[in-house]
Amino acid sequence: MKHIKLLILGSGPAGYTAAIYAGRSGLTPVLYEGLQPGGQLTTTTEVENFPGFPEGIDANELMDNMRSQAERFGCQFVPNMAVKADLSKAPYHLWFDDNSEVTCDCLIIATGASAKYLGLADEEKYRGQGVSACATCDGFFYRKKTVAVVGGGDTACEEASYLAGLAAKVYLIVRKPYLRATQIMQERVLNNPKIEVLFEHNTVGLFGENGVEGAHVVYRKGETDERRYDIAIDGFFLAIGHRPNSDLFTPWVKTDETGYILTEGDSPRTGVPGVFAAGDVADPHYRQGVVAAASGAKAAIEAERYLATL
Ligand code: NDP
Repeated sequence: MKHIKLLILGSGPAGYTAAIYAGRSGLTPVLYEGLQPGGQLTTTTEVENFPGFPEGIDANELMDNMRSQAERFGCQFVPNMAVKADLSKAPYHLWFDDNSEVTCDCLIIATGASAKYLGLADEEKYRGQGVSACATCDGFFYRKKTVAVVGGGDTACEEASYLAGLAAKVYLIVRKPYLRATQIMQERVLNNPKIEVLFEHNTVGLFGENGVEGAHVVYRKGETDERRYDIAIDGFFLAIGHRPNSDLFTPWVKTDETGYILTEGDSPRTGVPGVFAAGDVADPHYRQGVVAAASGAKAAIEAERYLATL
C-alpha cells in the first residue's frame, strides 16, 4: 500500500494554500482533490474580496492560480474522493472512491462544506430538472425565465443578483421578515427591479410535468393570516447555507453539534497527533476564502513542525 508523508484532503483555498506552504518546505505533499476541484469558490462568479485583486478575479481563475502555485512547489494532485478513514492510530489510513488505499504520517483535513437542501421530496425528484444549489453553474439555463432562490443570507442575495442578470424575474423566498445578508448585498437585492422578495414565506413543494414549473409556497405558516398559493417558476435554487464535510472523521475528531471540526484554540490541531483541520470544515463563523487560505497556511506550518518530531 502506498504511504504518504503529508496528505491533504480538499482543493479549496485551505487545501491549496496548505499545499503551497508544505511544498515550499520540501514536504512534497499529496493533495486529493475530491468531487469539486477548486472547492466551493468555483460555484461563484467573481471574487471581489480576495486581497491582491483590486478589480476582482474570476473564481475559477483564482483557484487555478492557487493550484498552479502549489504544483510549482512540488505538490502532487490526485483526482479522488476519500470514502473512509481510520485515524485510530498513526500511520493514518484512508480509502478512496477508486478503491485505492493509502497510509499517511500527517493529514490536513480541508474538505470544506456542502450546500444544504430543504429536505423536500420534490427537491430529489427535480434535482437536475430545475432544482439546483449553484446559480453560477446552472443560471445559464434560465435566461429570460422565472426562477426562485431560497434563503436570506449573503449567498442567497448574491445568487439572486446573479440570476437577475440572466432571468426575466427572480423570487427570493425568505422565511423571516428580514434578510440576514450584509447591508451591501441587501441593497443590491432590494434595489433590483427584477427581484421580488417574498418575506415570511416557506416552500412546501414543487410541481411540474417536465421539470419544475412552479412552487407551492406558504405565507406566515401557522399564523391566523396564513396563505397558501403557487408561484410559476422554471428553476428553484437553494442558498440556505452549508454542511461541513466532516462525517468520515467524527469518530476521532471532536465536532460541534452541526459537525464543524473543533480545533485547539486558534490552531488547526484536532487533538489527534498529526491531524489538522483547515478551512470551512472547521469554520462555522467566517467561511471566507481568505480565512480558509490563512488556516491552510497554519495547518501546513503545524504539519511541518509535527513531521520534524517523527
Ligand atoms: P447563512 O447561514 O448566512 O444564511 C442562510 C440563510 O438561509 C438564512 O437566511 C437562513 O434563514 C436561511 N435558511 C436556512 N435554513 C432554511 C430553511 N430550512 N428554510 C428556509 N430558509 C433557510 O449562509 P450563507 O450561505 O448565505 O452565508 C454563509 C457565510 O458566507 C456567511 O458568513 C456569509 O456572510 C458568507 N458569504 C459571503 C459572501 C461575500 O462576502 N461575497 C458571499 C456568500 C457568503 P434565517 O435567517 O431565518 O436563519
